[in-house]
Amino acid sequence: IDFQVDSLHECVLKVIALMESEATRFGHEIHYQEWMDPILVWMDQDKMIQLLLNIIKNACEAMEENGIIHMQLSRDPKNATLIIADNGPGIPSEQLEKIFHPFFTTKAAGTGLGLSICYKIVQDHQGTLEVESELGKGTRFIITFPIVDENS
Ligand code: ADP
Ligand code: MG
Repeated sequence: IDFQVDSLHECVLKVIALMESEATRFGHEIHYQEWMDPILVWMDQDKMIQLLLNIIKNACEAMEENGIIHMQLSRDPKNATLIIADNGPGIPSEQLEKIFHPFFTTKAAGTGLGLSICYKIVQDHQGTLEVESELGKGTRFIITFPIVDENS
C-alpha cells in the first residue's frame, strides 16, 4: 500500500474518464456534482480508483438501459463524503447485509468479490462505507474519509 496526500476530486475525475465508455455502452450517464474547495485525503490512489470503479461498475450492471449514476462530493470540517447513487432496481433488504461478504453475488458469472474488496479498501483508509437501497428506486453508497488537516 502506497499512501500519499491526494485530491479526492482528481480521483473521481479519473474514474469517470475510465468508466465513461462502458457507461455509454449501456446508455447510462454519469453525473458528477463536485465540491469547490479541494478535499485532500490520505490515500493509495490505485486502491481508491479500484474502490470507485467497483461501485460504479456494479451500478452500470444493475441498471436497465439509460440509467443515471449520480456522484456527489462534499465535506465537513473533518470528513469527506462521496455519494454514488444509481436509479437501478435496488437491493432487497434481506440481501443488503450480505453484499459486502466475499463471494455473495446475484450474477450468473459474478465473483462476489467486488464489494468485499471495497470494504477492505475503505477500512484501510480509516473511512466508512454504507449502503441505502429502495426497491424500484435505486441504490446509494455513502463513503466517508477523514480529511487531511492542511494546518498540521
Ligand atoms: P459481483 O459484482 O461479482 O456480483 P459484488 O461484490 O461487486 O460482486 O456485488 C455483490 C452483489 O451486490 C451483486 O451481485 C448485486 O446483487 C449487489 N449489488 C451491488 N451493487 C448493486 C447496485 N448498485 N444495485 C443493485 N445491486 C447491487
Ligand atoms: Mg461487482
